[in-house]
Amino acid sequence: MSAASILRLEGVSKSFRGLRAIAEVSFAIEAGSITSIIGPNGAGKSTLFNLVTGYLAPTAGEISFKDRRITGMATNRIAELGVARAFQIARPFRDLTVFENVRIGALFGKAGVRDVEVTVRRSLQLAAIAHLAEQPANTLTVGQLRHLEVARAIATRADLLLADEPCAGLNPTETAAMIDVLRLIRDSGVTVVLVEHDMPSVMEVSDRVLVLDAGALIADGPPHLVASNPQVIAAYLGTPDPSPLPGHSP
Ligand code: ADP
Ligand code: MG
Repeated sequence: MSAASILRLEGVSKSFRGLRAIAEVSFAIEAGSITSIIGPNGAGKSTLFNLVTGYLAPTAGEISFKDRRITGMATNRIAELGVARAFQIARPFRDLTVFENVRIGALFGKAGVRDVEVTVRRSLQLAAIAHLAEQPANTLTVGQLRHLEVARAIATRADLLLADEPCAGLNPTETAAMIDVLRLIRDSGVTVVLVEHDMPSVMEVSDRVLVLDAGALIADGPPHLVASNPQVIAAYLGTPDPSPLPGHSP
């Protein structure tokens, strides 16, 4: 096993009453990287996140995090080990301030967070919402709520952040701001796995791209190689096509 891999899936499958949502997926994620998972709707991207966080148990295969087997482990134990997920729909405590919401994240994360105040300040800074610290959560825009959700997730002192479509519904300016935040988080030492539909953002921010189609991993590599892979293009467009992915400019 490579010392640099933080997350490893080996032969992972998940079936829902005969529907194979994830089919024998194997990959390892290098620590300190940003990896994007792309694929058509229903490809199994969110299911993969649910398997890693322990929200779902795989039907077959093994998942390890920091060389420890986490297959079938309870979600709170996996969170304590350092896996955090940022949800697309943030459900903050609406009457609490941004600071207080993130503080709750810091209290419920990885074991051993000592200086909660420092952790919260740092998380707000990384998520680019330090200036909103004292605002009640119910005054935030949709874009700002996404940043709050990311801040809450990293305040757990996670080593791995799973972000499921953090830019969905955001305008181009907000999307660029979120991508900058993910890059800052990666630079701070947190490994990021991103599910994202916006191809220009994926191409720009990812060290590596994994492509899921009907539960199977059909491509894995640097963004520019994956974008020109005929099988990937076929999965998106339904037919083989020599043109690049929508929105991708070489
Ligand atoms: P994606 O996030 O790539 O759009 P999902 O992981 O949400 O795809 O879904 C993959 C497939 O698994 C879909 O066919 C979906 O309907 C099915 N699925 C996901 N979660 C469940 C569930 N809890 N019960 C039954 N089927 C599910
Ligand atoms: Mg999904």
